[in-house]
Amino acid sequence: MSFPRFLDLSARVSGHLRQAPADASATVRHLLLDSRRADLPVGAAFFALRGPSHDGHRYLHDLYAQGVRLFFVEENIALPGGLAAYPEAGIMEVVSPLAALQALAAAHRAQFTAPVLGITGSNGKTIVKEWLAQLLSPDEDICRSPRSYNSQVGVPLSVWELNPERHTLGIFEAGISEVGEMARLARIIRPTEGIFTNLGTAHDAGFASEEQKLLEKLTLFQGADFQRLFYCADQPLVRAAVVALQLPGFSWTRLPTPPADVRFTTEASSPANTTRLRADYPAPGLTAEFTLPFADEPSIENALHCLAVLLHRQVEPAEIQRRLLRLHPVAMRLEMKLGRHDSYLLDDTYNNDLAGLALALNALARQSRPGRRTLILSDVLESGLSSPELYARVAALLPAAGVSRLVGIGEEISRELKIEPGSTPSGADASTDPASFLIQTFPTTEAFLAQLNPTDFAHETILIKGARRFGFERIVAALQAQQHGTVLEVNLDALSHNLQYYRRQLSPGTKLMVMVKAFAYGAGSYEVASLLEFQRADYLAVAYADEGIALREAGISLPIMVMNAAPDSFETLRRYRLEPEIYSLEMLDEYLATFDIPAESPLLTPKIHLKLDTGMRRLGFDEADLPALAARLRQHAARLPVASMMTHLAAADESGHDDFTHEQLAAFRRMTTALEAALGHSVLKHALNSAGILRFPAAQFNMVRLGIGLYGVDASNTADPAVLRPVSQLRTTISQIKTLPAGTTVGYGRRGTAAAAERRIATLAIGYADGYDRRFGNGAGTVLIHGQAAPLVGSVCMDMCMVDVTNIPAARAGDVALLFGEGLPLPELAARIGTIAYELLTSVSERVKRVFVSE
Ligand SMILES: *Cc1c(COP(=O)(O)O)cnc(C)c1O
Repeated sequence: MSFPRFLDLSARVSGHLRQAPADASATVRHLLLDSRRADLPVGAAFFALRGPSHDGHRYLHDLYAQGVRLFFVEENIALPGGLAAYPEAGIMEVVSPLAALQALAAAHRAQFTAPVLGITGSNGKTIVKEWLAQLLSPDEDICRSPRSYNSQVGVPLSVWELNPERHTLGIFEAGISEVGEMARLARIIRPTEGIFTNLGTAHDAGFASEEQKLLEKLTLFQGADFQRLFYCADQPLVRAAVVALQLPGFSWTRLPTPPADVRFTTEASSPANTTRLRADYPAPGLTAEFTLPFADEPSIENALHCLAVLLHRQVEPAEIQRRLLRLHPVAMRLEMKLGRHDSYLLDDTYNNDLAGLALALNALARQSRPGRRTLILSDVLESGLSSPELYARVAALLPAAGVSRLVGIGEEISRELKIEPGSTPSGADASTDPASFLIQTFPTTEAFLAQLNPTDFAHETILIKGARRFGFERIVAALQAQQHGTVLEVNLDALSHNLQYYRRQLSPGTKLMVMVKAFAYGAGSYEVASLLEFQRADYLAVAYADEGIALREAGISLPIMVMNAAPDSFETLRRYRLEPEIYSLEMLDEYLATFDIPAESPLLTPKIHLKLDTGMRRLGFDEADLPALAARLRQHAARLPVASMMTHLAAADESGHDDFTHEQLAAFRRMTTALEAALGHSVLKHALNSAGILRFPAAQFNMVRLGIGLYGVDASNTADPAVLRPVSQLRTTISQIKTLPAGTTVGYGRRGTAAAAERRIATLAIGYADGYDRRFGNGAGTVLIHGQAAPLVGSVCMDMCMVDVTNIPAARAGDVALLFGEGLPLPELAARIGTIAYELLTSVSERVKRVFVSE
C-alpha cells in the first residue's frame, strides 16, 4: 500500500502549497479531523473543516504542539499565531478541505482491486452492513465503515482504512440528505456491488420528490466497473428505476408475482420469535429452507438482503443457516420486551421518521397476542411534509396495524393528529370495539410520565416509537417488567464523576492513562472505553493483545498500551496500532527479530513502553539491565520509538511501606534519567496507580494510571468516602420462597443447618458460575432485599443460592436482591471473605448481562 507524498498533492486537492514541510518526503498516512486523535503525529494530516458550530482552524496550534506537521486549510485564512508559529509544517491551501479529504480518499480507493460493496437506502443500512460483515467474515477479510460512518466526512474516513494487502472485501454505507451528495460519495466508494435497502420517507426535506431521492441514491451504482445491485423487487418505484437505468441487478421478492432472481416465502406458522422461510433460486435450480432467529419485519427485511448476497455467492445453504443463527443483534433495532401487567413492548426509541414508523407498525401487525394494540408516538421528525399532511399519513398507517389506542407525545403531534371517528381501525382485535379508539396527547414525555399508571396498559401490545430527543427510554423503563435474572448495572454518570475527581488531583499537563484491563474491571470494556474517549482520556491500557483488538474492532481510536503482549502477537499489535509494554531484554530481542526489516516508515512502527522494575519484582527491566537496554535503544532508535517508561508501586496503598515506596520512586527517577540520556530525548513517565494518585501527588511525573478508583473503589482509604460514587451494582431476583419448618436443612451437603424455628428461605437466581463467590455461603455473605439484610444459608450453588428472609415478610418471588452496590460496599464485602474489591469486580462472569445507565 502506498501513501501520497504531501508535496505532490496540490493538483489532486485543487490547492497550492503555502509552505513545504521541513521533512520534504512526508507522506499522508492518517486523516485527522479533530485534535483528539493526535496520537499519530507522524504522517497525520489535519483537515480544517468548518461547520455551523465548529471551525477546525481553531485547533491548528494545538495540533502543531502535539507534533502534527501536515495541514490542509482554507485559502486566505489567517493562521492562529501567523505562519511563523508553524516552522516545520507543510501547509496546503485548498478551496475546500472537505473536498481535499474526499479527493485523497478517492485516490486511496483506486489502489484497491478487490470487490467493494456499497449500501444505501432509507432504513437498515447499518444493520445490513454489520450483519453482512458477520455473515461473510468466515470467507473474507472485511474492511467496513465503523458504526454508521456514512456521511460526506464519514465515508472518506472509512474508505481510507482499506488496505489492499490485507482486505479482500470492503463494505461501506452511504447516506445522503440532498441532491448532489451521492455523486461525491460514489467517486470515493466506487462500489463494484451494491445493496439498495429500501425507499422510505426519511430526510425528504432535501428532495423534490420520492423519485428524485431514489434516482439520487441510485447514482451510487452507476460507475463503469459496477457489476451487481442486490435489491428487493417489491417496491414498484425501485424496480422501475433499476430497469429504466439498466442497472445490472440481482433481485429478490416476497410476493408471488414480480419476476425476481430469488423468491422468499415466509411461513405463517413459525415458532415464536423465529421466521421460517423458503428460498427459490431458479437460476441454479436451488430451493432451500432457512430459519431466521427473529420475527420482526425490519429484521426480516434486513436479513433477506444479506441472504440474497450469500445465495448469489453460492454459499452452501446449511452453512448459511449456521451463520444466520449466530447473527448478533445490532443495538439500534427494534427490541421486544416483556412489560408489566402482562403487557408486551416493542421498543423502537432510536429514531422516528415516517418510513421507520411504517416498518415498526408492520412488526406490530405481525404480533399475534390478543388484546389491544397501542402506539406511543413522539413528534415525527424530518419528513419534509407539512404537519397536517404528515399526521394525516400517520393516521392512515394505523388501521392496518390494528392500533386502537394512541398516545401522542410532543407539541406538534398533540396539535395535528386527528383520528376521524369513521377511520377507526377495522382490523383491530375483535375484543376491541372500533368505536372505542382511544387517543391521548401530552406536550412532553415528562407530562406523560407524571400521570403514568402501568396498570392502564395491562395486557396490551405496545409499540413505543420516539425520536431520540424525547427520551422514550424512560417510558420503556417505566413499562418494562422487572429485569429477571441477574444483571450488573453500570452507572456511566458515576464513572464520569469518578474520572473528574481523579482528574482534579492531577497537576496541569499531567496525562491520564486509564486501565480497562479485565473487561474494564468487569464493567464492560467497550462501553467504558468509549466513554473515556468521549471524556478525552489520553491513553488506555489492557493486559492482553486480544483485549486491545476488541477495542479497535469496536472503533476505539485512543492509543492503547498492552501490558502482557506475547511475542506471537507482535505482528497483530502493529496491525491494530497497539503499543506493547516491553519488560525484558529477551522480549526486546524477540520484538526486534519480528521486525528485522526496518518498517517502510517510522509510522508503521508502533511505539513501545518500557517497564522498569523498581521493587514490585514482577515484570520489568532491572537496574543491571540498563546498559544493555540503552545500547539497544541507541542502536535501533528508528525501530524502537519509545512512548513511555513506567514502573509499578508495590504498596502505594499502605502507609506502613511508604519508605519503600519512596525508594521505588527514587530508583525510577534514576533509571529514567539514565535511559532518557541514552535516547537523547525525554518521554512520558508514569508510576502511580489509583492509590498512588491520591497518596503521592509529587510523583505524577507526566502521566498516571487510573484503575479501580474509576470504578468507585478507593483502595487507599484516603479519599473522602463521600466523593467517589459506586459504579457497579450486581443484582438478581428471587426465584422462589419456601417456608421451612424447624429442623429442616438447606442445600448441598445439608450445610444450611437446621434452625430451631420456622424460617422463610428465598432462592436467588445467581451462583458461583455468575461470579458470586462460593465463600459467601453459610452466613459469610448477606444480600439486600427491600433494603434489608438477608444472610446466606447453605452453600452457594453453581447457578443459585439461598438466603434467609424470615425477617423480611414483604419479600416475594420476583423481587430484586442486591449483591453489591449502594448499601453493600465492595471493600467491606471483600473483607468478609478474605479478598479485595478488585477480585469481586472482575469475577462477575461474562454471562451476566451488563446494563449501562445514565441518569
Ligand atoms: C492494574 C494496574 C494499574 C491500576 O491499578 P489500580 O490499583 O486499579 O489503580 C496500574 N498500573 C499497572 C501496571 C496495573 O497493572
